[in-house]
Amino acid sequence: MIKRPVIDTLEFAHKAQHQTLQLRPEDFSRLTEESVIVNDIVTANVTGGVQEDGKPFVDIEILSGLQQTCQRCLGFFDLQINSRSRFIIVTREDQLCDIGQEEQDVNTIIAEKELDVVSFVEDELLLALPMVPLHEDGDCESPQISSEHTSLTSPFKGLK
Ligand SMILES: [Zn+2]
Repeated sequence: MIKRPVIDTLEFAHKAQHQTLQLRPEDFSRLTEESVIVNDIVTANVTGGVQEDGKPFVDIEILSGLQQTCQRCLGFFDLQINSRSRFIIVTREDQLCDIGQEEQDVNTIIAEKELDVVSFVEDELLLALPMVPLHEDGDCESPQISSEHTSLTSPFKGLK
């Protein structure tokens, strides 16, 4: 288990700091057993900065391969996570109300002196996961699906 790093979000942003974390499954207490981290590593890049409009932010980029259990056929499938989110740091709670005016994919967080980065990354990782993991349509190993599939690809279709 690595030492859990904390950052002062405003300072992190104003100094344009950067952290790369290599996280292991045991660092994520809320990840369910249906999601297995391939290669046992989740890479998270945390970058601070200030936008042109003067707003401080923290960017989080998460790169991971997960193996999940399809809830339709219970087979495994691979999920590649490559998510990037920006968090604008605000200092007062009432500024959180501005969310409606913001462009999509931009979130706001209250400035914190000691933000638990691992927990922050875990929140993002969980958001990037599907609510119900499923294969793409037609990729299931279920017999019902495959019978449908067979009729669609009937060899007689090609004979005219
Ligand atoms: Zn499936």
